[in-house]
Amino acid sequence: MRPDPAGRQTQENLHMIYDVLIIGAGCTGVMTARLLSTKNCSVAVADAGCDVAMGATCANSAIVHAGYDAKPGTLKAKLNVRGNSLMKDLAKQLGVPLRECGSHVVGFGEGDMKTLQELYDRGVTNGVPGMRIIGQDELRRMEPNISSEATASLWAPSAGITCPYGLTIAAADNAVTNGVHFYFNFKVIGASRAGDVYYISNGTDTIAARYIVNCAGVNSAHVAELLGENNFPITITPRRGEYIVLDKVCGNMANSTLFVCPSERGKGILVSPTVHGNLLIGPNAYPIEDGGDRSTTAPGLEEITTGAHLLMPTVNTRMAITSFAGVRATPNTYDFYIKNSEQLPNVVHAVGVESPGFASSPATAEYLVGLLEDAGLKLEDRDDYIPTRRADGNHKQFHNMTDEEKVEICKKDPAYGRIICRCETVTEGDIIDAIHGPIPATTIDMIKKRLRAGMGRCQGGFCSPRVADLIARETAKALDTVTKCGGGSWLVEKRKGGN
Ligand SMILES: Cc1cc2nc3c(=O)[nH]c(=O)nc-3n(C[C@H](O)[C@H](O)[C@H](O)COP(=O)(O)OP(=O)(O)OC[C@H]3O[C@@H](n4cnc5c(N)ncnc54)[C@H](O)[C@@H]3O)c2cc1C
Repeated sequence: MRPDPAGRQTQENLHMIYDVLIIGAGCTGVMTARLLSTKNCSVAVADAGCDVAMGATCANSAIVHAGYDAKPGTLKAKLNVRGNSLMKDLAKQLGVPLRECGSHVVGFGEGDMKTLQELYDRGVTNGVPGMRIIGQDELRRMEPNISSEATASLWAPSAGITCPYGLTIAAADNAVTNGVHFYFNFKVIGASRAGDVYYISNGTDTIAARYIVNCAGVNSAHVAELLGENNFPITITPRRGEYIVLDKVCGNMANSTLFVCPSERGKGILVSPTVHGNLLIGPNAYPIEDGGDRSTTAPGLEEITTGAHLLMPTVNTRMAITSFAGVRATPNTYDFYIKNSEQLPNVVHAVGVESPGFASSPATAEYLVGLLEDAGLKLEDRDDYIPTRRADGNHKQFHNMTDEEKVEICKKDPAYGRIICRCETVTEGDIIDAIHGPIPATTIDMIKKRLRAGMGRCQGGFCSPRVADLIARETAKALDTVTKCGGGSWLVEKRKGGN
């Protein structure tokens, strides 16, 4: 077993009074923590889940939207366009793949031309670069598999795709590297204030901080009330969106992200490549009661298939390897509600951050830090800030190494020569490294989100038991304590009277 990196047991730091506590470790909270870690202040992040990116950040379309969709003058429009421009450098800095593949909003006949023109005009006003409305011939040259019924598209070359949870995990690793403390399994249930310090409680422990940022996604309006807001003006309706992921043999069917014209229910069902080489279709959009309900349904998956066929009739859902769903935090207002509290001093809310909340997140972080400064937080740049994911640079996974690098690392550490996930070529060395990473990956899903072990064609049928064994061995815990995703999601049951 390798030793624990210093400082990762953040529970020991509960006696501290932090400058800033961020509630919610999705992309909004983590990007904000990372940005604050470039400054001379102490920062903690508390999340109800056992990892970062456990909410909407974990399950979405992964599109770095160009920014033509949001109405001009809204915060959504401003943050989306700025976020898009920051995202490329951010991904590079953190060593996360980002493909500048562009996007098409596809029109079907004369009736859609007005919408394409409106979106184009909005985009121009919002400052989106390089857009064009293109005709059928050019569209077919760019996307040979597009439906023959498609007649035109709004082409936005600045749109891209990346891995939202991968980027958030990398940003969180970087924040830890620069001294941010993460408290997982910390579901905020109450708050009190004495002097200029807030005491935020999960019922057992308390985190103290002078400034609070509420980024609790689908629960953000509820958390605002827990913090002490009376008659908070925003309500959130959880809206679920289901997806199907197709095998990598289908990954080249689309070169860019393909949308239909948007409707009142959102951007509609899209067809998109993923940075990992799969093809993604979805999402639909339905309000649900329980914001934690991420189940998929047979009618939902059928609806997605029909929607995808409109854009690309040759999409073959018999090549599906999995389905999943994400839940949007849809506010009762059209726009993001990102503001200083009007009632509570030194509290900032990021509420109703639905799409394009991921694409916007680097800009949202800037905006939130500005609001903290408006509230009185004094910030100065640090001169010892480390911009890469880890102090020794960006971690490279075995399957991304050159042949020479592979030979070299196997010589140094034979664990890199043992393949655990065959579908995605994840080695024992990669897994051990993640288990002992800045945020230790100690569940099956934490390994999956960091390394893709279990995300391939066999969906973990082969590697999950071996990953569980490695987690147990490396953390010196019994196998029956290893979980899929925290809580009671154990994989192995202890036999009565046995071990
Ligand atoms: C179906 C779908 C498709 C989308 N597609 C895109 C897209 O292609 N591009 C794009 O830009 N955006 C997209 N979005 C929107 C994007 O995913 C979100 O805007 C973004 O992830 C919001 O991030 P967040 O950090 O604000 O919230 P979340 O990621 O939801 O994080 C909130 C965190 O708060 C934590 N939390 C909640 N309650 C508590 C509590 N009481 N105590 C402590 N912690 C708590 C949760 O555990 C969670 O980790 C999509 C969303 C969905 C659902």
